[in-house]
Amino acid sequence: MSAITIQQNLDIITQRIEQAALRCGRHSKDIRLVAVSKFHPTPAIQSVIDHHHLIFGENRIQEAKEKFTPLIESHPNIQLHIIGAIQTNKILDAVKIANVIETIDRVALLNPLQKAIDKTGRCPKLFIQINIGQEPQKTGILPTQANEFIELCLKQFGTNVHGVMGIPPIGKDPVPYFQQLAQFAHHYELPEISMGMSADFEDAIACGATFVRVGSAIFGARPAKI
Ligand SMILES: *Cc1c(COP(=O)(O)O)cnc(C)c1O
Repeated sequence: MSAITIQQNLDIITQRIEQAALRCGRHSKDIRLVAVSKFHPTPAIQSVIDHHHLIFGENRIQEAKEKFTPLIESHPNIQLHIIGAIQTNKILDAVKIANVIETIDRVALLNPLQKAIDKTGRCPKLFIQINIGQEPQKTGILPTQANEFIELCLKQFGTNVHGVMGIPPIGKDPVPYFQQLAQFAHHYELPEISMGMSADFEDAIACGATFVRVGSAIFGARPAKI
């Protein structure tokens, strides 16, 4: 997609966020857009940066590292969110590059995460990913285990735990799932709720999203998975 098209898409999404916020009496500044650039090349990301948007989401650590290391050097204000499943052996790289890790999803990740934080002296903001649709093919802690897990994370990482993240099942009304996710955030007084993608971010905003993660509506269809 051309730079112009991407920038127009970005403007359209920004306006839709503002309108969705207005409709439910929220301030649009309380809702931030994560431009999900996974599988899209650096020039596409550059056109978003040129349009003064600096919050991005990537779901593979390796790809994030390759594309964003040089970009962050020239634009240190970039905020990079990791939004994909993290293998334990990639957590150090994630901690090095991410401003937010949205996918803290299992107990086995916590000690490697602690070690990575100790080693780098840097701690990204942490979101707990909850498998709100209880789907076996998706990552995320199951809702039935989420309280215990969130409490464990809070004990270990304190105020570095900033929020929750989730993806509702495809083909179902997302609203009850968004509401359930928001409840976890409210229960623990976590400030951030990351939910809503290209197809459903307006519903997510009505349910309290503070971050929406939008990819294809900005960058166009993703090239096929490699
Ligand atoms: C790819 C992805 C998105 C963006 O999806 P679109 O439908 O392209 O907006 C959002 N969140 C996560 C976790 C993703 O992997």
